[in-house]
Amino acid sequence: LVRLTRPFSDLAAHESVALDALSAAGGHVVAPACNLCGSTQARPFLTCRTHVLVTCVGCGLVYATERLGAVELAEMYAHRYPPEAFLPQRERKLAKAHRELALLERLTTGRRLLDVGTSYGFFLVAARERGWSAVGVEIAPEPAEYARRIYGLDVRTGTLETVPLEPAGFDVVTIRHVLEHVPDPLGMLRRAVALVRPGGLILVAVPNLASLAFRLNGRYWWWIDPPTHLYYFTPRTLRAMLQRAGLEVVLAQSERSDDHPLLYTLLFSLNQRFRLGARLRRWRWPLGGHAGLDAPDEGRPAGPSRWGRHIWTAAQVLGEALDRLARPLAVVPQRLLLCSEVLMVAQRHRSSCETGRV
Ligand SMILES: [Zn+2]
Repeated sequence: LVRLTRPFSDLAAHESVALDALSAAGGHVVAPACNLCGSTQARPFLTCRTHVLVTCVGCGLVYATERLGAVELAEMYAHRYPPEAFLPQRERKLAKAHRELALLERLTTGRRLLDVGTSYGFFLVAARERGWSAVGVEIAPEPAEYARRIYGLDVRTGTLETVPLEPAGFDVVTIRHVLEHVPDPLGMLRRAVALVRPGGLILVAVPNLASLAFRLNGRYWWWIDPPTHLYYFTPRTLRAMLQRAGLEVVLAQSERSDDHPLLYTLLFSLNQRFRLGARLRRWRWPLGGHAGLDAPDEGRPAGPSRWGRHIWTAAQVLGEALDRLARPLAVVPQRLLLCSEVLMVAQRHRSSCETGRV
């Protein structure tokens, strides 16, 4: 029996190979307790760089076997998302925020909102424009300060554990692309439940492990990113966790969100599976020193060639155009919850005696 309980998994290459073999043989490992059901029995799911992801035998939740403390998390996020990475995405993020807020406005008339992991505050800017009274909580000091100074928003630096907030003081709590990052997502959901009024709503959005993009790219999918991402939800495990936190799911949907267009994802998958970059290099394809298809994050020291970058940029631009053309067809993967992001809205039970029960 393999024990994966070291605080940081620093896998050697032979351990990674051994885990892959164990996984192929259907063997179990002992992992840190599952956040959803408490089981320590797990199966290796995949290895990524030096990290191990496992599937809980009890409930199917996929998670990284390492555990980060509050200090490590705060350090990781203090410099992880610099403004230059986020500010160019402002318009797109604002548009997405307006779509999500419109969704919430169809489900509730309450307009008191708490956004957890609010980053530079774009979501709160959209909420304020639509007449919501909104508060944000952000662990990283720099984005929180930016949101206060530039947009005049009420953003408090810290987490749901450290920032004092009025119990049952909100109609809606939004937790967008945060749950997959935190060491105790069920604990975060339970704290969020205590902050919404009975009958209030929690909106959660996470990367979707049941997506076509993951099925195509496996460990190379952009959102397989331990230890930044510690949890990997499918619609089924996300729903189960919301229910365990005392919530009832009232809406589930799926969209591409920040992921690449389908054409790019397909090309990336072909490149990974058939090692097109390496083959072209061997055939001395006349595209410069490195073959064109080496992907930007294949980890090659020289990085992709100039031609390579052109090919990936072209795949992105053409892919965006094709995705726009195919938008009417996108309803199918959206309905089947197969797109890269899954979003659920769940309701706190109205009667206080029901809350918190499993
Ligand atoms: Zn479990």
